[in-house]
Amino acid sequence: MPQGRLLGVVEPVDEQLAGSKMALTSLLRTVWPGEFVDERDARFINDRVHANIQRDGTFSVVPQIKGGVTTPDQLRRLADVADKYRVPMVKITGGQRIDLLGVRKQDLPAVWADLDMPSGYAYVKSFRTVKTCVGTDYCRFGLGDSTGLGVAIEQRYQGLESPAKLDLAVAGCPRNCSEALVKDVGLVGVTVFAVSEEDGDVVVEL
Ligand code: SF4
Repeated sequence: MPQGRLLGVVEPVDEQLAGSKMALTSLLRTVWPGEFVDERDARFINDRVHANIQRDGTFSVVPQIKGGVTTPDQLRRLADVADKYRVPMVKITGGQRIDLLGVRKQDLPAVWADLDMPSGYAYVKSFRTVKTCVGTDYCRFGLGDSTGLGVAIEQRYQGLESPAKLDLAVAGCPRNCSEALVKDVGLVGVTVFAVSEEDGDVVVEL
């Protein structure tokens, strides 16, 4: 019988240790930033090759696309890489990025070089994405610049280690198109009214 948390069965000790490795690394780096020594050879394969190993032994490559905003140039490069390395599946992720699935391990260094894009850290326990809606840039319901804020947050915290994967989202209004209300951290644009106590008129609207 397979062992796992859902069955209420205690995992083997080696699996427990593997599961706590990132959390422990994050804790040690935070508590002793000066003394912490990163042993690259001790990292999991995903960390070493900046890609996520799949069930068939190939890898998933997810470059960073901040706030889900890309450019024609990035899209051309992604398409060229997919053609050149015969990537069997190109998939849009739930975090508004593009996943190249089925990349062979020996192709990974060349794939990253040809992409010339930063990693999206889709393979580690860390801060990963900020999903955004279009907000005030284009949406007529927008109350806040959700895209700009999402890009700024992703820029600032990209690659930040954490005990578990961390997904964020920003929505430009309570319609919540970017599903900010079900993320680890979600920000939602709202309108704030200040009402006069004397006559009930709106005196400030933010
Ligand atoms: S959440 Fe609001 S602002 Fe954002 S796309 Fe949806 S309706 Fe527009």
